[in-house]
Amino acid sequence: MKTLNEYQMKANGFISEDGKKNLILNGVLGLSGESGECADIVKKHLFQGHDLNKDKLKDELGDVLWYIAETALGLGITLEDIANYNIEKLTKRFHGETFNKEDSINREE
Ligand SMILES: [Mg+2]
Repeated sequence: MKTLNEYQMKANGFISEDGKKNLILNGVLGLSGESGECADIVKKHLFQGHDLNKDKLKDELGDVLWYIAETALGLGITLEDIANYNIEKLTKRFHGETFNKEDSINREE
């Protein structure tokens, strides 16, 4: 697999029949659940004495990506559309290629 769109095409093959009935709703609900699983790993590391389980966090990030791909399918867009739009937005926000504090504080969008 070489591109985000190739990933999306493969990932979308694993959507359940019920999920296909409402891609956006199933996608955003799943996204919320999986991002919560990411937060739980970091919470356990910071506040419950667990080692940071990087392998599990990687696994959950993949689940987040999977639900983003499903939601994107529901919107009729690709992961590359989302990635390109996001970089354009950040470049505009920060007036360049890197973060800066002033633009972060005074952001327009
Ligand atoms: Mg998961």
